Amino acid sequence: MTNQPAPAAKAVANQIGVHALVFVGDTSPASVEAAVTRTAAVGYDLLEFSLHDSINLDRAATRALLKQHGLSAACSRGLARDADVSSEDPAVVARGQELLRESLRLTADIGGTVLTGALYSAFGKAPGPLSKAGRDHVVGVLKELAQEAAPLEVTLGLEVCNRYETNVVNTAHDALALADDIGADNVMIHLDSYHMNIEESDFVKPVLEVGDRLGYVHVGENHRGYLGSGHLDFDSFFGVLRSTGYRGPVTFESFSSAVLAPGLSNDLAIWRNLWDDGDNLARHAHAFIKAGLTPPA
Ligand code: MN
Repeated sequence: MTNQPAPAAKAVANQIGVHALVFVGDTSPASVEAAVTRTAAVGYDLLEFSLHDSINLDRAATRALLKQHGLSAACSRGLARDADVSSEDPAVVARGQELLRESLRLTADIGGTVLTGALYSAFGKAPGPLSKAGRDHVVGVLKELAQEAAPLEVTLGLEVCNRYETNVVNTAHDALALADDIGADNVMIHLDSYHMNIEESDFVKPVLEVGDRLGYVHVGENHRGYLGSGHLDFDSFFGVLRSTGYRGPVTFESFSSAVLAPGLSNDLAIWRNLWDDGDNLARHAHAFIKAGLTPPA
């Protein structure tokens, strides 16, 4: 038998992404350029921008840079106490709706195809449980936002966040119920291992329950530092993503006091220095995620 070439390693079908906060804390032109070039240099497919501090983001330049480097883009955000679509106060809801509309326009303007996060409430520990009136406001606003997103070809994600960041959806089960009530094809579920560790019983059942409505995944450690340096069961998580045939983006999310975005870092309680070298962290995470998504030989 002649020497046969080894079969090509099965390509990972998912886009692998990284959060811009791994590299830079703001969206000034210089910071966006640094984030895009460093993301592409590691070999990522997608860059996620937080829209918390995005006032100075140059949309046309960002779109052109992403295109030049062959990167897809996703945007994420939570709302604010005075602009919160889960409020009982119609004026607060209206400000939240405007924030979401502006975020949708920005996402489309930079060529992004995903707008996700806590689109349904303010970030931070809620003073009490979600009210019926508040939930009705969430459903009404996100129904309209989904209609506005459809012609822009933007998919909306409901990120399942832990109890200290929202009282609207803390589990995959909650998110499915909310998505059912919104009832739009372009609204998907976004799971994040960091939040799942706090709220779900394991990493497998939520993925099975969400099934083909899973549209976006965040991979983060229990302390939000280097993947594999905490205690999360990534073998189970990647295993079920593979076995269910999930094909959407898998984006690395990590935060350290070494790179701060004033609004977001405080909302997420980033008080500690878990790493200094974002490029080293990003290379490590890309290899970790790629290995996790690659079927065993
Ligand atoms: Mn997340």
